[in-house]
Amino acid sequence: MKFNDITRGTGLEEHGITNANLIYWTPPTSVLYEQIVRRNEGLLTHLGAVAVKTGHYTGRAANEKFIVDDPASHPHINWGKVNRPFDPARFDTLYNRMLAYMHGKDLFVQDCFAGASPEHRLPVRVITERAWHSLFARNMFIRATPEELLNHKPDFTVIDMPNFHALPDVDGTNTETFIIVNFARRLIIIGGTGYAGEIKKSIFTILNYLLPHDERVLSMHCSANAGEKGDVAIFFGLSGTGKTTLSADPKRALIGDDEHGWDDRGVFNFEGGCYAKIIKLSRESEPEIFETTRRFGTILENVAIDTVSRRIDLDDDSFTENTRASYPISHIPNIVPSGMGGHPDNVIMLTCDAFGVLPPIARMTPEQAMYHFLSGYTAKVAGTEAGVTEPQATFSACFGAPFMVLHPSVYAELLKEKIARHDVSCWLVNTGWSGGGHGLGSRMKIAYARALVNAALDGSLLAGEFEKEPFFGLLIPKECPGVPAEVLNPRNVWADKAAYDATARNLVERFRNNFAQYGEFVAEEVAGVL
Ligand code: ATP
Ligand code: MN
Repeated sequence: MKFNDITRGTGLEEHGITNANLIYWTPPTSVLYEQIVRRNEGLLTHLGAVAVKTGHYTGRAANEKFIVDDPASHPHINWGKVNRPFDPARFDTLYNRMLAYMHGKDLFVQDCFAGASPEHRLPVRVITERAWHSLFARNMFIRATPEELLNHKPDFTVIDMPNFHALPDVDGTNTETFIIVNFARRLIIIGGTGYAGEIKKSIFTILNYLLPHDERVLSMHCSANAGEKGDVAIFFGLSGTGKTTLSADPKRALIGDDEHGWDDRGVFNFEGGCYAKIIKLSRESEPEIFETTRRFGTILENVAIDTVSRRIDLDDDSFTENTRASYPISHIPNIVPSGMGGHPDNVIMLTCDAFGVLPPIARMTPEQAMYHFLSGYTAKVAGTEAGVTEPQATFSACFGAPFMVLHPSVYAELLKEKIARHDVSCWLVNTGWSGGGHGLGSRMKIAYARALVNAALDGSLLAGEFEKEPFFGLLIPKECPGVPAEVLNPRNVWADKAAYDATARNLVERFRNNFAQYGEFVAEEVAGVL
């Protein structure tokens, strides 16, 4: 039997790759499984998912990401700590060494698409040295049909070589690790990290440039789902706030869990797969996602596995807190197969407020929605050092600053226009702490968060009464089916009311300090929200 009979396909010469040994062209999952096992890249778990380790990096290497500074894109890019400029000549030098590194190597190529909308989809090629990264690309992007494969011409290419390292002194990188986007050459190169999330988030990065800039389509770091009547909801939120968790709902069909576009027809997924956080995943609270951890095709990253029984332990965080499952969206039972939905009726902004002062759910005016979109607030619980209990507030514009290439006001303008045109209801949902901050209170139950979201989406909250809380000026519902009424106003569940007031005032102050940078870009009514 020949293991490598999928050697069709051409075009690697166009990238300068001329001397590869074996090239696997868009191999299917089974072939990739065989290669993962033959190359000792991972272990099969007892029900068929494959377990891998990402190595030193178990999350994104945010400080090692650069954008090549070329004349065409230069004026449009929001240069700064997120979008660091990289010299074009140094890119070419580094890339040439990378090409030399690929000589004689087996390579895996996935030709696929990003963007479910036929009008906006981007043909993408992902070239990797590891079979499991190829499976990741196959899971996460949109598959081409056999006919589409025959004519597939990549518009952007990702080359991911975790074992190839930069030389910081020569290349001008910070470390041996790099993720570099080159718009002029339509190329992304990744080296020195095996964290697969870089592959999907670098394509997200370029879509955040191309779609709003070239096509006036809003790109968003959000999940999306559709109700039985086809009513669409989108859920913005930073990492860990519940985009993936809350969008997987038995009664609502999943459109996507992380990245979407919104054009004149409605929303569309950029991806064809999901990437769920699975640390301490509960079968009861997240049954759909739990099932995917046991399916053929799912990649389990940095999950502890008993090497004898091949059973996994989702509670074990010895490799990282950021354990992940990558699976094709078709592993979730209730989905929208086209990846496309109409215009949203509801926009939900998720935050994980570890201070415990934001209400579990609140209705926002369009101005408040703009304010919170530009603020992009969440909080991280304190590290594990003894005695440190104060949470860290994070503000990340558009709920995704690390991936936004244009100025935040560009995305905010597009969102504002769409919210007004389609008469969208906007909600702020706190999936974080209640009854006190981290250490005092406890994290909101997933069942409550789901009940709150469902009541917003099915219209029952809108039909009821609201009260305005004094700190953020948010409208809090007085009742919600399935949720005890006293938790709806966060002040009620703090034993120490004075402590609540002080913590809330302090958070308002942090919002104001952060928002000062956006004042000149927004209407007075938005700047004056807080
Ligand atoms: P990323 O952008 O990194 O993919 P995300 O927004 O998709 O992040 P999730 O994967 O949904 O985040 O992670 C939310 C995590 O918080 C999950 O581990 C979930 O089990 C946990 N969690 C605990 N309580 C809640 C809650 N009330 N609502 C949502 N998630 C909760
Ligand atoms: Mn997610």
